[in-house]
Amino acid sequence: MKPSYYNCFFPFKTMYILFNSLRGAIFVVDEEVKTVLETGNLEALGDLEDGFKKSGIIVEDNLNEQDMYSMTYNGSKYNALSTSLHVITTYACNLSCVYCYEGKGELEHKVMDEKTSNRAIQFIKDLTDSYNSKALGIELFGGEPLLNMPINEGIVGDLSRWCEEGGLDFSVNAITNGTLCSEENVETLGQYGCSFLVTVDGPEKVHDQRRVYKNGKGTFRDIMEGLYRIRDNDLGTMIRINVDEGNKNDIVALFEELKGGGLDKVIISIKPVFNTSPACMSYGYCMPDVEGLGIVNELYAVARKMGFRAEEPERPTPQGACSAQRASYFTIDPHLRLFKCAILPPYEKNAVGVVNDEGRAVFNYVNVDFMSRDPVMLDECRKCRIVPVCRGGCPAEVYETQGTTHGYVCRKSGFYKMLEENLKRFVTNSM
Ligand code: SF4
Ligand code: SF4
Repeated sequence: MKPSYYNCFFPFKTMYILFNSLRGAIFVVDEEVKTVLETGNLEALGDLEDGFKKSGIIVEDNLNEQDMYSMTYNGSKYNALSTSLHVITTYACNLSCVYCYEGKGELEHKVMDEKTSNRAIQFIKDLTDSYNSKALGIELFGGEPLLNMPINEGIVGDLSRWCEEGGLDFSVNAITNGTLCSEENVETLGQYGCSFLVTVDGPEKVHDQRRVYKNGKGTFRDIMEGLYRIRDNDLGTMIRINVDEGNKNDIVALFEELKGGGLDKVIISIKPVFNTSPACMSYGYCMPDVEGLGIVNELYAVARKMGFRAEEPERPTPQGACSAQRASYFTIDPHLRLFKCAILPPYEKNAVGVVNDEGRAVFNYVNVDFMSRDPVMLDECRKCRIVPVCRGGCPAEVYETQGTTHGYVCRKSGFYKMLEENLKRFVTNSM
């Protein structure tokens, strides 16, 4: 047996946290055990040997762990138990948020009509069938998706019935700015069990400087009314908070306001303002810098202490491919173009294909570029002990900056720092 290449040690009081990034195993060990594992003198492990074997802290001599990770990573791309899509039913938006990466609904205005939505529905059914998926998940996205309610309802109603007839689980979530959560819209989507992801960037004064209508008027009060309606209809809510220098000191006040307003059952999701989107569902990827990581972690800790549920798991875990590399995932837009991540529209160069007039998907080379990415094939990442949790960074960011996903964006020191803080917090809370 030999020590795993993916063992990482972090000082913890007078001991060390031992984290295996490939298996996610966590132990607290003393200096002596650390030295044994670092030198490979494994006879000295005594009673610990069995447990370490089971947890992958020590592995067979001939095991190539990099290849093993590559195998797991590539396998996860084709785990299609669930098919999921972001469906952009309109590029139009009624807001003009200061940091909008989508061009504030002005770069693109295209709206899905009945004809295109029928082709989108057929494509979604065919995709789900082709992978024999047992569940279908739809994220209504925009622009502001609630500006196109007739099409939202048509798509969600049709797919919900189709899933029911075929015995598939169906789920729908609306990623909305929250200003159009009228009683009618909430009830319409609520009949299909829709949950809502709504962005709130701070208490009223702070939020209203950032998330504004086209005429500059703040949106906070309208959004809060919408959140109460969602709660009163017993529908799930996640609140996305975009954090940067401008609002980082105001987020706790927002938590207090949510609690005070009876919105303590919402799930909190915090992201640094970055060229990613509320649509990214991947843990730990989309981090701009070391400071961004620290702030997010601190705020999550406060939110948990105040009794909120947090989107990100407390325990650091190895990850497979993100949705951008899942065969059974796409973003589809009103032109019926297909993208591998919801942060990549509306740019044509980012499309991996299109659904043609016969309802068939025609793919281009970008699809191959995304699907074939393997962080273990990148020299720096292959050598890296935390590749199973970092995965070489966000594939969409790599593609946008390098013109191919076969590269990496490395924030190693920040990632180690984030990992250390998360592990210390997790171990302390589990003691
Ligand atoms: S991007 Fe950097 S930290 Fe991430 S896996 Fe590659 S080398 Fe490691
Ligand atoms: S490509 Fe990047 S933004 Fe998209 S899901 Fe993956 S990590 Fe998130």
